[in-house]
This record gives sequence, C-alpha cells and structure tokens, in this order.
Amino acid sequence: MGFMAFLFGGARGDAELPDAERWEKRAPGWRLRCRRCTFDEPFGKYGFRKYACGAKFLLRRCPQCGRLGWMKVCR
Ligand SMILES: [Zn+2]
Repeated sequence: MGFMAFLFGGARGDAELPDAERWEKRAPGWRLRCRRCTFDEPFGKYGFRKYACGAKFLLRRCPQCGRLGWMKVCR
C-alpha cells in the first residue's frame, strides 16, 4: 500500500462500513436500554460513548414506546 493510499484509506473513515459496525466502533459493547419497554439498541446508533462519559443513564425519549425517561446505558 502506497503512502497516498494509506493516507486516503485512513481518511475515508468508516463511511463504507455497515451501520451496525459504525455503531459498534463508536461505542464498543455499549447498549441503550429503555426501562419501560423492551427497547434495546447499540448506543453507538445514538451517539459517541465519549460524549456520555461516566453517565449511566440518559434522559431521552424512547423511539419504541415514545415515553420520555431515563434510558440505561450499559455494556
Ligand atoms: Zn421504551
């Protein structure tokens, strides 16, 4: 691999990865769970783990049951 290929290969980032893999890269192993229904999705779909550093709960509306509440972030 030439230097330019390396450079642009790296700069291309994760645009070519499937969604699930991008989410996993953003927040490896982290899940976002609703305490009121069965909603459970990769946290990376909604944000980067580093932006929620230390937080175990996030106040947000659940996409599944539509209720505003504290959603659990765990891994
Ligand atoms: Zn819910």
